[in-house]
Amino acid sequence: MASFFKKTRLRERPLSAYKPFIERKLVNALEKKRAELRGLSVLHLNSTSSGGGVAELLRFQVPLERSLGVKSSWLVINNHQNDFFFVITKKMHNLLQGQKGRLTSNEKKLYLRHNMRGMEAVKKAIKKAKPDIIIIHDPQPLSLVKAVPAGIKKIFRLHIDLSTPDMDTLNFFRPFIDKFDHLIVSNSRFRPKWFDNKKTSVIYPAIDPLAEKNRILPKEKARKILAKGKIDFKDPIISQISRFDPWKDPIGVIRAYRQAKREFPSLKLILAGSAASDDPESREVFEEVKEFAAGDEGIILITKHDDLLVNAIQSLSRVVLQKSLREGFGLTVTEAMWKKRAVIGGRTLGIAAQIEDGKNGFLVSSSKQAAERIIDLLKDRSLAAEMGRRAHLTVKKKFLAPKMVYDHLKLYGEILL
Ligand code: UDP
Repeated sequence: MASFFKKTRLRERPLSAYKPFIERKLVNALEKKRAELRGLSVLHLNSTSSGGGVAELLRFQVPLERSLGVKSSWLVINNHQNDFFFVITKKMHNLLQGQKGRLTSNEKKLYLRHNMRGMEAVKKAIKKAKPDIIIIHDPQPLSLVKAVPAGIKKIFRLHIDLSTPDMDTLNFFRPFIDKFDHLIVSNSRFRPKWFDNKKTSVIYPAIDPLAEKNRILPKEKARKILAKGKIDFKDPIISQISRFDPWKDPIGVIRAYRQAKREFPSLKLILAGSAASDDPESREVFEEVKEFAAGDEGIILITKHDDLLVNAIQSLSRVVLQKSLREGFGLTVTEAMWKKRAVIGGRTLGIAAQIEDGKNGFLVSSSKQAAERIIDLLKDRSLAAEMGRRAHLTVKKKFLAPKMVYDHLKLYGEILL
């Protein structure tokens, strides 16, 4: 029988490698935590090792925690032969983010039954890792909290926007959420109303400046990567890098592009979105996007997973869009801001935590507004450069990996007291 868990290989992330990017004060604070928390063991549990924001975070969080003396490990639920499970959890995700609909009792049953199969595997993994703290990320593995013995501190790390949830779905999860000692959200508005505020922390996600996706690429190298992908970079390019998901509004992006193209006929739009293993909806949305884009030679659709290509696209885009309708945070925004791009983001709670409208990027509520901002930024290169410069400084100050890891180490210390 296939294992319930998938193994993930990780690169090393020594603190010293981050020193060029962060202030001395933060390095010292992290060193202090290393001394305080020596020997602590933390187990992370989530549902995908690639393709979405949570996997991006764990890829640096786990190795950086390890290099700071914490015995950190990461388990990923294996979806082998269980496509139905992720069809259900994607529906749950959508309902929790405020989509209209209803979870059927059969779907609830199947969700519980699938996770029930993992109970023994979780217990075994816990016996081996002997964690002091277990962190369960997002709702997919949530009911596995029942397998965690008393004495181990339990943290629920919620990454999505829970500000307007479908209450029936949230109530289904309530008995599991109530088993946690602590909740981490990306925005205070995402805390379920009944959950104790004192047991809730807001921690912002972050990006890894050492990752292939975020290394600052020389322009020449970025051009070569695009040329290899047969993308003509001589024309102005705008882009959105995102899973093909209705919340990311790829159709709205195409509408904005088409409006802007009337003023800039050579404009190109790249929509790149590789599939995340826990998102079965993406194929359907991709087909819809393909149909909507048909016949327009200026639109380039990419489904290949390639970090360096993502980096090159973000680095060479004159404007980066993330026209989301809901967003827990939106790492693609952070990634593009780090690359000094002018970013136009959907006015959502997650993106508004990063972009201050008109200061370090723009927030929009419609395709029409997005088109107007694209035109402004294409016309005025110095405006785009100034937005990008400020955007980079925002990320440097608030959203780089060591800061997020520091926030976690601080919390680990507090909840173990
Ligand atoms: N991503 C990627 N390739 C793609 C689409 C997305 O590598 O084709 C990455 C993207 O660069 C970002 C993450 O997946 O690091 C998406 O995180 P975000 O928080 O923006 O959205 P989520 O998918 O978690 O809703």
